[in-house]
Amino acid sequence: MSNASDPRTDAVMSAPELRVDEDAIRANVRYFSRLTRSRLMAVLKADAFGHGPVASAVIEEGATAFGVASLDEGLTLRRNGLDVPILSWLNPVDADFASAVSERIDLGVSGAESLHAIVRAALRCGHPARLHLHADLGMSRDGAPASEWRSLCELARMAERQGHVQIVGIMGHMSCADRPDDPQNLCERLRFDAAVRSARHRGLAPSVTHLAATAATITGAGGDHDLHRIGAGLYGIDPSRTSSELRFALSLRAPVISARRVGAQVSVGYGASFTTDRPTHLALLPLGYADGLPRAASHRAEVLVRGRRRRIVGLISMDMAVIDTGDDFLTPGEPVTVFGPGDQGEPTVADWARWSETIDHEIVTRIGVRVSRVHRRTHRKDP
Ligand SMILES: *Cc1c(COP(=O)(O)O)cnc(C)c1O
Repeated sequence: MSNASDPRTDAVMSAPELRVDEDAIRANVRYFSRLTRSRLMAVLKADAFGHGPVASAVIEEGATAFGVASLDEGLTLRRNGLDVPILSWLNPVDADFASAVSERIDLGVSGAESLHAIVRAALRCGHPARLHLHADLGMSRDGAPASEWRSLCELARMAERQGHVQIVGIMGHMSCADRPDDPQNLCERLRFDAAVRSARHRGLAPSVTHLAATAATITGAGGDHDLHRIGAGLYGIDPSRTSSELRFALSLRAPVISARRVGAQVSVGYGASFTTDRPTHLALLPLGYADGLPRAASHRAEVLVRGRRRRIVGLISMDMAVIDTGDDFLTPGEPVTVFGPGDQGEPTVADWARWSETIDHEIVTRIGVRVSRVHRRTHRKDP
């Protein structure tokens, strides 16, 4: 990781590069701060959706907690030294809960078995674990099913009385918040309210309830709760496609490796699935599906070079892709923009998602390890 000067206009580049625009992420946090008066939990799972070390930036802009899936992700954040609440909500029953307790990482709990394992870890550590009980509202995924909610609350209350755990939160997650008119949203909101009431009725007194993620925060589908868990939105992704204020933070660029002039009726790539219909120029890029270009986007995807969109032709291979550059005979080392925020005419992450028939999240989280990351920030901390 390095802080490079802006090479956007460099004449040549030597290797593929994923640029992370930290200022865009900062602006996105500020957007959510304006949007809601609730506190913001920045969801940094999967290496911050592929964006790398952005933790301090989101805290500086007003996020007050971190959310991650696995405990390992939480421990890594904690060991990087930021003293803010961290919640990890997805762990196997034999996870290292003792480290969670000693490193003060809050745990999402969906079932009696993990509750018991956490109580055992808390006993060993000699101080209580901080828990968020997680109610399934209709996804049949990782929350406690409605049929088990009551008993989970009762067990949690018992463990709390014994001093082993502290129930600090109740959480739920919505299945259809990206479609604000879907009746499922109201249904899940009411289920969440009922789960919170039921928990309080059993003597629990969580200090936070949290339901909304990015889409529900933008559309309001999550109602009003103490805390919003924002993942995608930090990185400029709006699953509801209703906000125009978010900024994409990633740009992926690669140098041309080589270029050639070809005639008509020349085939390109595995399976000879593309054949030129005219004399043209081809250029080779050192990025393939191992680097995160979905093979499913072959024949459709475009890149930007010399200010023009050019199409990827032939099947994207593991390490490389070929573009048809028409009359342009590119020079080795010339930079090609695969995606970016879109303001120079380059494709966006959303374009790549459409070409690959997937969602933006999948594009940003799958950029391979061979691509070097460059964090770009113009933001200056006040002296
Ligand atoms: C990933 C995740 C989030 C963040 O969702 P976004 O839509 O990316 O904001 C919030 N809560 C849970 C439980 C998650 O798994």
